[in-house]
Amino acid sequence: MATCGNPNAPAVKFERLPTFAEPTHYDVRLLPCLNQFSFEGLSTVDVTIKEATDVLKVHAQSLLIQSVSLVANPGDAAKTCDTSYDDKLNILSIKLPSVVQPQKVQLIFKFVGELNDKMRGFYRSQYKDKSGSEKFLASTQFESTYARYAFPCFDEPIYKATFDITLEVENHLTALSNMNVVSETPSTGGKRKIVKFATTPKMSSYLVAFAVGELEYISAQTKSGVEMRVYTVPGKKEQGQYSLDLSVKCIDWYNEWFDIPYPLPKCDLIAIPDFSMGAMENWGLVTYREIALLVDPGVTSTRQKSRVALVVAHELAHLWFGNLVTMKWWTDLWLKEGFASFMEYMFVGANCPEFKIWLHFLNDELASGMSLDGLRNSHPIEVEIDNPNELDEIYDSITYAKSNSVNRMLCYYLSEPVFQKGLRLYLKKFQYSNAVTQDLWTALSEASGQNVNELMSGWTQQMGFPVLNVSQRQDGNNRILTVQQRRFISDGGEDSKNSLWQVPITVSVGSSPNDVKARFLLREKQQEFVVEGVAPGEWVKLNSGTTGFYRVEYSDEMLTAMLPDIASRKMPVLDRFGLINDLSALLNTGRVSIAQFVQVAASSANEDEYVVWGAIDEGMSKLLMCAREMSDDTLKSAKQLVIKMFEKSGAELGFAEQSGEDSQKMMLRALVQARLARAGHRPTIEKFNQLFTDFLEKGTPIHPDIRLATFGVVARCGGKEGFDKLMNLRETTTFQEIERQAMIAMSQTPEQPLLAQLFEYGFEKNKVRPQDQLYLFVGTGSTHMGQQYAWKYFCEHIKEFLEKYGGANSSLFQRCLKFAGESFGSEQRAVEFQDYFCNCKELNDTDRQTLARPIGQVCLSSNFFFKFLLQTVEAIRLNARLLESNRSVIETLLKQSNL
Ligand SMILES: [Zn+2]
Repeated sequence: MATCGNPNAPAVKFERLPTFAEPTHYDVRLLPCLNQFSFEGLSTVDVTIKEATDVLKVHAQSLLIQSVSLVANPGDAAKTCDTSYDDKLNILSIKLPSVVQPQKVQLIFKFVGELNDKMRGFYRSQYKDKSGSEKFLASTQFESTYARYAFPCFDEPIYKATFDITLEVENHLTALSNMNVVSETPSTGGKRKIVKFATTPKMSSYLVAFAVGELEYISAQTKSGVEMRVYTVPGKKEQGQYSLDLSVKCIDWYNEWFDIPYPLPKCDLIAIPDFSMGAMENWGLVTYREIALLVDPGVTSTRQKSRVALVVAHELAHLWFGNLVTMKWWTDLWLKEGFASFMEYMFVGANCPEFKIWLHFLNDELASGMSLDGLRNSHPIEVEIDNPNELDEIYDSITYAKSNSVNRMLCYYLSEPVFQKGLRLYLKKFQYSNAVTQDLWTALSEASGQNVNELMSGWTQQMGFPVLNVSQRQDGNNRILTVQQRRFISDGGEDSKNSLWQVPITVSVGSSPNDVKARFLLREKQQEFVVEGVAPGEWVKLNSGTTGFYRVEYSDEMLTAMLPDIASRKMPVLDRFGLINDLSALLNTGRVSIAQFVQVAASSANEDEYVVWGAIDEGMSKLLMCAREMSDDTLKSAKQLVIKMFEKSGAELGFAEQSGEDSQKMMLRALVQARLARAGHRPTIEKFNQLFTDFLEKGTPIHPDIRLATFGVVARCGGKEGFDKLMNLRETTTFQEIERQAMIAMSQTPEQPLLAQLFEYGFEKNKVRPQDQLYLFVGTGSTHMGQQYAWKYFCEHIKEFLEKYGGANSSLFQRCLKFAGESFGSEQRAVEFQDYFCNCKELNDTDRQTLARPIGQVCLSSNFFFKFLLQTVEAIRLNARLLESNRSVIETLLKQSNL
């Protein structure tokens, strides 16, 4: 890997707060002014000093500190203190009037701050009311290090304290915080009201929250008497009904599952128009993007509705995992994210069977985690975090999807009751306190009587995951399996570290495909296992139910034996998905050819499950991508091959919803028809166009599940006229899912002037909310022109991107970067991409330093911004490699198909 930047530049030395002082209680009073985008603040912090000192340090950022004073003993007069500020570390040093011995003191801060538009700290959000006039509300996003934007604090998760929040707001506004209101009194002059909230339990600063605005709500009570409310901007509260019902059920379900009742008297869920993350689990005041909380029964797609269910359940799981028990430091971020992610599926799986959520788990979590973790530049689940500025980049598929999948593997291995017992022990032992990964393993070991630490450390402390190479021989009625493990790397290369895992292996066989026939634990590089009672010729499959976080590569003989039961769907759907997803991934490594993949895909002609078709579709899209890079003729033939494979299913499924079918069917229909349309199947394209015309002219609704596919066809095939219609739709709808879908579709236009118009509209004219601008990039990868345009646009506007999202460490900035670059497929592009970031003048000193350090260390780097770049560069190279290794295979295959 080439290096860039100056590896010798001194890194900013990061510092945590000194440990000799701890906050125990905060009294924070804020007076926000929505017209002037500012707030005034007064706070008193009770601090326990544990060693004699004449200086105290707290975090503060973008605050104008007007005064700091110290009350050394109760009843003493407050003494003003001098301060100094380190703007790299965001630390305010407070010089005490004299040395203070170990004791309790109070610090009093007077300050003003800005209600910014960067979606962090205490910030403003803009929306239009019913009459179309601009309105603002103010809310907070404090994770990971933004509480310091709102009030000076000990802004590290270990410093748990209680909080009294008071907000002084205009009379017509609603003020919310973590706790219930205890008093509301008029301010002097009577124009405003002073809203005081009850004292919180002991908690970390990143979980404090408030919201101020014209809000409306609906409410309900849980069985245990907790008041649940969903808040929205005016006119949208009815769309909160689905989430409200679900959240009531969720609190009751978790109360039982964790065996610890939710400790606060209320929990509000609020939909915020501008929001950088999906949602945030502030204790008692959970904030969501509108799209992640609001559901309109006739308009929301099934997929989006199931996402809402998952996000609601995820955040509420955090009330225990994260809020009640918190990680000591961000290195253990996965402790809360991995478990909230797992519990969201446990809840939705048990309470919303219509979503078949565990099927989606495989694609959305397991496959997504493996896809990132297969790159050489992945990172371990437990990741060393020095400076929390590096944090935004690890809110990624490793921290969420891999952690989640590894938890599922462990849960299956230990059994759910044992797993649950361990989690309960852990939560009870560390409630209102902090923990590290080891504490969780100890609790699970206690519950199971097994050495969970030994089992799990390989999965959380080393990056990557294994692929098991398996072959077999028959011995009487026994099947003897030879299993070898090595790290799965997407480029097919070797792992220099020789990583080993303890791999829980389950085995199923052809005579009873739904049962686990045998269980083993693979500890060595290579081991033999005996499966008793297997007839000769019977197929044997590893990873039953695809519960393990590993891939399997079978001998030809073993794979061929499974084909008939894939075709007849006798093999369970979770196994069919796992098999095809593994094959599709092994395509990249060159260990499986596209011809082999097509053979297995072809035996899935009778497949009826959405997720399995999704895995087939993904493999076929790789084939099309390769063909596109080769020649127009090859692309044409490849499209014909796709049509041949999908046509029968498309004809059977049709376009209209049939009565009595489950929620997956419409999604399958959309997937198959969309692929046919992309492959240029004229009758399908015409049908989509007809749906859109009927919708515009006759008001015939488009089924929400096929809406995105319809919009996509209109954008790709409808020229300027189609584009304008979509733009008009986006402008006139008030529903965020439709806005987003129209935008993703428009970005697929093959006409550059239209794409230019869209980017100007979205970015320069700011017609698209910053939180959603990344969706402009999503569709551009579908054409060469789009790829190039998006990349050039990103480079030319990087300064604005950095400014808009608040810097290179912002996750929104990085996601734009990723979408703009990752669909390239040539070595030259990879070099160009890398060079650009090496030489980019717009990266400021801090960014450059962030870049420089790891460049010197390359692989040993702990810097995730660069790691993130490397991942994208690596993804580009993978595309190029796939193309090379399959070039001749595609040509042969297409000739054989006689197309
Ligand atoms: Zn979370």
